Amino acid sequence: MNSAWLIHAPQGYGKWPLLQRTANALLCESPQSLTASEREAARLPAALSTYKACGHCASCALLAAGTHPDLLIAAPEAMWPELGLNPSEEAAPRSETKTASQEIRIEQIRRLNDWSVSTSHRGRAKVALVYPVDALNAAAANALLKTLEEPPEDVQFLLGAHRLDALLPTIRSRCRLAALPRPGAAEAQKQLGGRAVATGAQQAVLAWSQGAVYQANPALGLEWAESLLDALSRQAASPQSSTLPPPPDQAAGVASLLKIGSDLQRVQSGAPPLYLPQKLQPLTALAQRIAPLKLAYALGDWRQKQRLAGFPLNQALASDALLLEFAQLFSQGD
Ligand SMILES: [Zn+2]
Repeated sequence: MNSAWLIHAPQGYGKWPLLQRTANALLCESPQSLTASEREAARLPAALSTYKACGHCASCALLAAGTHPDLLIAAPEAMWPELGLNPSEEAAPRSETKTASQEIRIEQIRRLNDWSVSTSHRGRAKVALVYPVDALNAAAANALLKTLEEPPEDVQFLLGAHRLDALLPTIRSRCRLAALPRPGAAEAQKQLGGRAVATGAQQAVLAWSQGAVYQANPALGLEWAESLLDALSRQAASPQSSTLPPPPDQAAGVASLLKIGSDLQRVQSGAPPLYLPQKLQPLTALAQRIAPLKLAYALGDWRQKQRLAGFPLNQALASDALLLEFAQLFSQGD
């Protein structure tokens, strides 16, 4: 097996649980072959999805407790809770700063590098999980590169990335790449069911998230987008009839407007809506009221704003300004 795999897919496709499962199977002391149907459902390359962990051996017990010495995880501190990690599983002691880091810090990779040259505790593979690689800062990426260039023989590196184009080309070239396909219908349904999304709403959430059902909230912004379209339709019938509902938060607002905008654009060009297929009628009516160029310009502008969405004090992202901008798209006379 190649010593480094880089699994890439949009956020929400379930990279983390799959990487974790792969690590567990590699470390398990009596791994079980996947059944034919399990192999069919597995979305990873065959080399990574032949076995599953037994769940009963000493290694599996250590993995369940989060204390396996031959597994090393490097992930941003801020993500530990959502990844289900506790500090002892992590690659470095917590930072001294009060806010948890959004980045994978150089200290974490230094510790990974030291660990990778140490002897395996349980005599089987050693597995290093780095997730997401997008969160490596420049210094950490360069430190990881050094180890990937001369990987210790018994270490399997499993890297997960949201966006391949944002990574150092030198890191990409040291890894075997595999694109993770969208979760299949059955898997998506199971995942949404587990997130308490009602069966009747699952199709809408599936379209809205475009299959990224492993996000913390795959339905984020959907309800707002639907009510926004309804309010705009009411306004069209009788102006000043209703105010527009404010978005749940700024980042969700921008992301949602981008989805609405791209659906309006699709409808204008005669394609079916991608994110809001259940809203074909209001989308069609609204699309007729915007000049295509004006819409294209607004979309470009929102994409720019989305890049700034991590910065909470950005005034351009204030909800009311955003809504005003959106509503003005439909105003007549210019
Ligand atoms: Zn086991």
